[in-house]
Amino acid sequence: MVLKALEIQGFKSFPDKVKITFGAGVTGVVGPNGSGKSNLSDAVRWVLGETSTRELRSAGKMEDVIFGGTRRRGAMGYASVRLTVDNRDHALDLDAEEVTIGRKYYRSGESEYSINGKVCRLKDVYELLLDTGIGRDGYSIIGQGRIAEIVAAKGAERREIFEEACGIAKYRYRKNEAERRLAAAQENLERLRDILDELE
Ligand code: ATP
Repeated sequence: MVLKALEIQGFKSFPDKVKITFGAGVTGVVGPNGSGKSNLSDAVRWVLGETSTRELRSAGKMEDVIFGGTRRRGAMGYASVRLTVDNRDHALDLDAEEVTIGRKYYRSGESEYSINGKVCRLKDVYELLLDTGIGRDGYSIIGQGRIAEIVAAKGAERREIFEEACGIAKYRYRKNEAERRLAAAQENLERLRDILDELE
């Protein structure tokens, strides 16, 4: 899957609207220490649905991803990231040649996700990206320390990584969802039986 553009506003060290377009081939980001290079990969991770503040290198609150202000500049009220990917190969199950995923988070705690401009749930983003390798649990963003984590992972955790890579994760997710719905239906059935017993 090829990334086409990343638009950021109010995210971490980027108060102003910044648009980075990725050309063909490899893109490198260079800059002095602390200039925000890793914040860019955090932005990609975040817009794809990351909910763990640890993975986002934040101090523990999601609010910390919002530009917190400097001596010269006030804090922002929200963080917004949009990521556009080339979908000409239809790797994402959407009838569109280009897919833009967006996420916005306000200091009030309100958050919003969108796919091609349509507001959606985090679940929709998660399901769209399952088995593509770029989702929340994907393997395509290798953060600092991730290699060591993979090497040290227990059998079951390592298996999850391989399952995502070979496209099984989607089916495991669907199976779990179906089992959850089945359990809820079973509960409703039992409640109905109780009511019927009382009426008889
Ligand atoms: P290195 O090369 O040392 O790894 P880097 O270029 O990857 O550095 P980042 O870690 O991306 O740099 O950026 C760190 C900078 O981002 C710090 O100056 C930090 O103050 C700033 N920063 C992080 N979160 C926020 C925030 N919410 N508001 C304002 N600035 C922030």
